Order: sequence, then C-alpha cells, then structure tokens
Amino acid sequence: MAQILAPSAQWQMRMTKSSTDASPLTSKMWSSVVLKQNKRHALKSSAKFRVFALQSDNGTVNRVEQLLNLDVTPYTDKIIAEYIWIGGTGIDMRSKSRTISKPVKDASELPKWNYDGSSTGQAPGEDSEVILYPQAIFKDPFRGGNNILVICDAYTPAGEPIPTNKRHKAAQIFSDPKVAAQVPWFGIEQEYTLLQPNVNWPLGWPVGGYPGPQGPYYCGAGAEKSFGRDISDAHYKACLYAGINISGTNGEVMPGQWEFQVGPSVGIEGGDHIWCARYLLERITEQAGVVLSLDPKPIEGDWNGAGCHTNYSTLSMREEGGFEVIKKAILNLSLRHKEHISAYGEGNERRLTGKHETASIDQFSWGVANRGCSIRVGRDTEKEGKGYLEDRRPASNMDPYVVTGLLAETTILWEPTLEAEALAAQKISLKV
Ligand code: ADP
Ligand code: MN
Ligand code: MN
Ligand code: MN
Repeated sequence: MAQILAPSAQWQMRMTKSSTDASPLTSKMWSSVVLKQNKRHALKSSAKFRVFALQSDNGTVNRVEQLLNLDVTPYTDKIIAEYIWIGGTGIDMRSKSRTISKPVKDASELPKWNYDGSSTGQAPGEDSEVILYPQAIFKDPFRGGNNILVICDAYTPAGEPIPTNKRHKAAQIFSDPKVAAQVPWFGIEQEYTLLQPNVNWPLGWPVGGYPGPQGPYYCGAGAEKSFGRDISDAHYKACLYAGINISGTNGEVMPGQWEFQVGPSVGIEGGDHIWCARYLLERITEQAGVVLSLDPKPIEGDWNGAGCHTNYSTLSMREEGGFEVIKKAILNLSLRHKEHISAYGEGNERRLTGKHETASIDQFSWGVANRGCSIRVGRDTEKEGKGYLEDRRPASNMDPYVVTGLLAETTILWEPTLEAEALAAQKISLKV
C-alpha cells in the first residue's frame, strides 16, 4: 500500500541531501533486485528473470518500494504522464505512460498521442491508430512529485470522435451558451462492489455461501459488518491528493459494497472527475488483489444492486422559485424516460425492479424524500423552495459523460410539445 502515498518527507529530504550522487541506483542494487533464477534457463527466455522483493542493507526498506518512491526531481525536470482512456466496452479503462519534458499546469500543454485500437476493440487491425486528446489533468498519487494522470478522449486520425468517445458530445452540450449560462452542477454517487479474486464473490462473504441478511452493514463498523474499508479509505485520500472533487464515502447496504460521491462539479468536470476516480479505484484494488465490479446487480436475490445516483441542479433551480423549475425539469424527464433508461447503463433492468430502494424500470415516478422513485427531491429542497433533484435511475456502470450530458439536454435544451406537456402533467405520479 505504501506506493499509494506520495514519497515520504523523510525520503525526499534524504534524496535532496545526497543529490551530489547523480545516479542513486548502483549496479550492485540492480543485481540484487533482478536475479537470474538459473543461468541455463535464463538463456532460453527472459521470462525466467524474476523481480525479488529484497531487504536493503540496513534490513528495513524493500528495495523495489524504494525505487517506486524515488524522488527524481533533483535529477531531472522530466515528469511521467499516465494517459488514460476508455476502452472498447465503454467501461474498461486503459492507460499508458510517457515522459514529458517538464511539469505542466494544464492539459492543453500536453501532446496528443496514439494507441493500438485493434487491441482495445476500438479499431480494425489494418487501420488501428486511435488518437488521444488530453482533456483534464490530475496529480498522480501513485508516482507523487510532479507526475500526472491525464484523462483523454479518443479520435480517428481524421479528427472524428470514435463511437466510444462520449465526452465529445457532452462537451458540446456543456459549451452551448444556454447550458453554460445555467451553470449545471452534478453530484454523482458512485456505488461499487469489491469481489474476492478468482471466485467472483463479494469481499467478506463466505465462498459458496451467504452472509446474514442486509441490515447491519450500511455505514456499519466491525469485522463482521464492514469489508474493504482500507480500500475505500485509500481511495478517498488518493482522490483528494489527485485533486478530484470527492465529497464523501460510505459503506453500503449490501456487504462488500461501497460508495463515494463526487461533486458538486460543474458541467463536463463531473464526468472527468468520476472517470479519474474510477481509474484510481481500479489501480488501488489492483494493488490490494481485490476485484472491482461496477455490475448494477452483482448478486441476484435479496441483495441491493449498485447505482450511480446523479444529483443535479441548474442556476435557476438553486435560485428563488427554483422548485417550480425543478418540477418542470421532472416533467421533461418523464417524457424522455425511455431514452434516459437506455443510456443509463448495461444490465440496469436487473437492478431497477421496484425493490431495494429502486423504482421499476418501465414506470417513471418522482417524490419528495422517497427512495422508491425514479427522481427524488430532498426535504430541504421542498422546504426552501429551491435546490436540486436526484436521478436515482443510473446504474453503477453508467457513463457519466452520457448521463450528465443527457440531463442537461433534456432539462435545458429540449422542449416538449404543449400537448405532450399537458398530458404528462396529468400523468406523472407524485409519491411522497
Ligand atoms: P444521498 O442522500 O442520496 O445518499 P449523498 O450525500 O450520497 O446523497 O450525495 C449527494 C451528492 O449531491 C453530493 O455529491 C453532493 O455534493 C451533491 N449535491 C449537493 N447539492 C447539490 C446541488 N445543488 N446540485 C447538484 N448536486 C448537489
Ligand atoms: Mn449516497
Ligand atoms: Mn448509496
Ligand atoms: Mn442517493
């Protein structure tokens, strides 16, 4: 877990003091880190080389970890940028590293890059090049220093967004003057499930069996109620370090399931921050040897599914008279229910059953403080006459670019016909 954190102050100081030695890595160190298992076998295949975690001379510091935490800033201006993009399934995340000549403050200072789209299900083999456009940067909590994570979107060499690039359209919606004037805020609650490796069964659950029924686990503490807190907490700090606008975390109703919230974020930032936070979670679970699942209903039966509730407000919703604007937005949302559902994540029909704090997938509903509705409005919003709404429909595997873009489009840019509006006003049910 040590490499999650930034290099310790102590290590940085030590390196700075001994900075006369331009090459802190001696060949003696290397030969003790990389061992040949056996000379004869080593000749056959480089796979026979194994990296051993060895004790250092003073017997306290693991040498591989020492290298991972090495502060290179006294020796070079160069930094490492981890270019991150969304792969062919629309939910898998890919990344690769490159050296940049000096620290940067903005994504616009970074070069475009490319990758082999035929290996990610995003391009045919005979024309495999996909181009990465750097869009947002975050501090890298794994490498520390001036190193960065770069959220990218993907284009053909001719400059067309590829089909899995959902950011492009969202960015267009958010740069529409009508949308920008409404300063849309998003607070996204990302739920996720931790699985034991190889068995595809939640963390903390007996393999081949079930824990006791739901009830004690939500926000619970204790060895028999909370499974995976270190991962949730490591992720929380990694997000804060990276500059992600994370607003909180909690243990969920289903044991082994967790949530973190990001926001309120303005416009396209909501999507960028959620994707970067998901990437950090993939990396942390990788280090912990635990599998991350964003499946909306990982376990069938009387177990809660995993969603990605999206809290949303516009400037007019947050100002005096905002509740009327919220109700009009809900009316628009009711008229485009099917369109929204089809864009809210794969397998969501297994989750939106009308049970386990969800509304049924084929019926739109809204209510104040009601968690069994498609859209919930908080008590505070009702009392103050302004605030925000919570769209409870999105699944944990939704694409935040799609969901945030669609919410803004349906409530700010789209207008129903007067007839449809009148009919919908009679129809939409209010559950309080
Ligand atoms: P819940 O009660 O549904 O579990 P959470 O506390 O988990 O809600 O998440 C609520 C999210 O909504 C937070 O990320 C918060 O920052 C965000 N939020 C608060 N106010 C607004 C607003 N006016 N517009 C959009 N999002 C908001
Ligand atoms: Mn929540
Ligand atoms: Mn939740
Ligand atoms: Mn919620």
